[in-house]
Amino acid sequence: MTHKIDELVDAFANARSVFVFTGAGASKESGLPTFREIDGEWNQYDPMTYATLDGFLSEPVRVWNMYRLRQRQIGDAQPNAAHIVIAQMESRYPHFLLTTQNVDDLHERAGSRKMVKIHGDCWGMRCMHCSEVFDTREFSLPDEFTSETLPRCPHCEVLCRPNIVWFGEFVPDEAMFASIERASSCDVMLVVGTSGEVSGGYGFVERASMHGATIVEINPTEGILTQHAHLWIPEPAGVALPKLWQSLTGLGRNSLPPA
Ligand SMILES: [Zn+2]
Repeated sequence: MTHKIDELVDAFANARSVFVFTGAGASKESGLPTFREIDGEWNQYDPMTYATLDGFLSEPVRVWNMYRLRQRQIGDAQPNAAHIVIAQMESRYPHFLLTTQNVDDLHERAGSRKMVKIHGDCWGMRCMHCSEVFDTREFSLPDEFTSETLPRCPHCEVLCRPNIVWFGEFVPDEAMFASIERASSCDVMLVVGTSGEVSGGYGFVERASMHGATIVEINPTEGILTQHAHLWIPEPAGVALPKLWQSLTGLGRNSLPPA
């Protein structure tokens, strides 16, 4: 695999504009199970109930309580080496954007700031009337809701929903436009831990490819984007990215984020 890592380093060494696109695989290394894993913990949760507006409207207590459980798991998880390297990349490149499909906050906690979240944020709640978004952590909410204690907008007193992009809903315009812009002008597009089946992943790769960007995929398993990648590193991101960073920055092993 050494030669592959060398090619990866070459791709990043001369880039001025980098676009990083991450998915559930990046957080899996931090111990967060994904919704889409066939045998995963979330297999017991029917996406039609827990990840659609209709499901929420018919069972808001059950849906909110699942998201509260998810929040506790995310709160207990720590960023891994991949999150940390991606955060450090920001300052190396004049033009940089991280677009993540993940609703956890591990990228932010690792230090990423130039980023957009195209599937929303697990900590957010949004008023079903005025659409204002609030941070659930700023309210004293119970761990488990009843129909009487469901979170409500402090202005309208209308029910709030999780600020997540559910099936059948659109990615917020601002996040989509920023991603398309960076995909259309990057020198390197790095795809990490996503099959790319949802939320424009394929379109981003197509745009990046069209104007001559090098497409790099780091993913232990092959996805639909792999055939478009110039370089596929079939390793976990927490393994491959620290090797890349060490070679690029010349930092000694002791300076590396923990694997
Ligand atoms: Zn409101």
